[in-house]
Amino acid sequence: MWNLDQAYIDGAFVPVQGSERLEIVNPATEQAIGTVVLANRDDARQAIAAANRAQPGLANSTKAQRIEMLRRLEAAVLARSDQIRDATIEEYGGPLARSQWVSNYASQCFATTAQMLGDYAFERRLGEAAVVMEPIGVAGLIAPWNSAAGSMCSKLASAIAAGCASVVKPSELGPLQAQVVTEALHDAGLPAGVVNVLLGRGGDVGDEITTHPDIAKISFTGSTQTGKRIARAGLDTLKRVSLALSGKSATVMLDDADLAIALPMALNAAFMNNGQACVAGTRLLVPNVRMTEAIEGLRRAVAALRVGDPRDPATAVGPLASQAQFERVQQFIRRGLAQGATLVAGGEGRPDGLGKGWFVRPTVFAGVRNDMDIAREEIFGPVLSVIGYDDEDEAVEIANDSIYGLQAYVFSSQPQRARRVASRLRAGTVLVNRITPELIAPFGGVRQSGIGREFGVFGMEAFLEPKTIAMANGLAPAIPKQSRNEK
Ligand code: NAD
Repeated sequence: MWNLDQAYIDGAFVPVQGSERLEIVNPATEQAIGTVVLANRDDARQAIAAANRAQPGLANSTKAQRIEMLRRLEAAVLARSDQIRDATIEEYGGPLARSQWVSNYASQCFATTAQMLGDYAFERRLGEAAVVMEPIGVAGLIAPWNSAAGSMCSKLASAIAAGCASVVKPSELGPLQAQVVTEALHDAGLPAGVVNVLLGRGGDVGDEITTHPDIAKISFTGSTQTGKRIARAGLDTLKRVSLALSGKSATVMLDDADLAIALPMALNAAFMNNGQACVAGTRLLVPNVRMTEAIEGLRRAVAALRVGDPRDPATAVGPLASQAQFERVQQFIRRGLAQGATLVAGGEGRPDGLGKGWFVRPTVFAGVRNDMDIAREEIFGPVLSVIGYDDEDEAVEIANDSIYGLQAYVFSSQPQRARRVASRLRAGTVLVNRITPELIAPFGGVRQSGIGREFGVFGMEAFLEPKTIAMANGLAPAIPKQSRNEK
């Protein structure tokens, strides 16, 4: 049993002052596996104070020192890779392969950021001015439950590279992953206060972070609804805000796609992470001339999917993370049927033979119109909506008819054509004939999928602010190397 009751503040694990206790439940078995005591506003204030004390030292550190910190973080997180994987399976129900990917990704964030930092110029000349990129200040990093370890590490890598000390608030619904990652961060031996981590409620610890005058920057990943609340809360102190939010991604299957290859990939894009992914491709746009063939292919592919124990390497879809998620997905399936969509696979209830655990039946709807709820709202479960189209223009129009714009997918056997369609889609990322991300390239959403970008140089620049220094008599003299970031 896990009994978690500490926050990580100023380089040490300390008992939280909060008293709310949550049960941690394994979603595959519905059994309690531990408890966590949540931090409160007082804990948050202490964490913010510790980060503030650490901020000047980190801001004045050299590039080489920060690369060294990132390398130490990479090694420490890598050393706990198996523990992160196991925590992801145990508390979240992530299938083995996906959980392994997430835990590798958590350490890789530090590696790719360290590499990028080596080549980054913090100062450049524009006209007669020297333009210096400076750390914004103490950052609040707020992460969701569906990508706990990855979000924590990716945000932290960018913040440290930029020279920003952080207060990290992972979701209160991902305590095990947060605990293992925090132990790894501690092992890395960074200066006290550079990283502080506490689990607490959004309306309590989260609100303290988003309103506190000593926090200069918020990097948030979560739902669009919470993102808007955070943007409003940060307004009084004019915090810089990056928001990575919800999605309702479209997968555009062009009429020349090789369905034998593309359909399993499209299904994987829809059901990845048990369908609980912001980038899940949950609207599949299929040309009407190939609809019959596509539906048959999907029916076969879903029948072959193994749903069950997330520890089993053969499992493709594990349980949803909680009973609330289970109920939410059931409700969407009912709404899909009520609004006239046709069930191709799955449906309400649990899969045969799985009486316990928050397992749902991987579900595919055909005959979906883009104005149905299942096409417009983020369901956050393995439910795919298939929408027919007649020509390329109509496909683009349907794909773009959404309040979201996070990640889209295009499948085609003609790269030029796929590229042309990709350029017309309103999304922060478009993946063509692949479903794996490029971790060094910017990631984020357009429209209500977010503001700002994460990963690589764009991710770091979200924690930097340009300062212009222009002198009366021409060029500003260069700053000695040892006293600035460049070294
Ligand atoms: P959520 O918005 O409910 O919570 C996210 C985080 O915000 C949690 O840590 C929560 O405690 C905190 N929070 C809640 N209210 C707050 C407040 N008032 N002030 C400050 N913090 C507050 O989201 P969730 O259910 O944990 O995550 C799922 C959502 O996240 C989905 O919509 C998904 O699409 C989105 N998501 C987006 C990305 C992306 O990169 N775009 C990645 C993963 C998840």
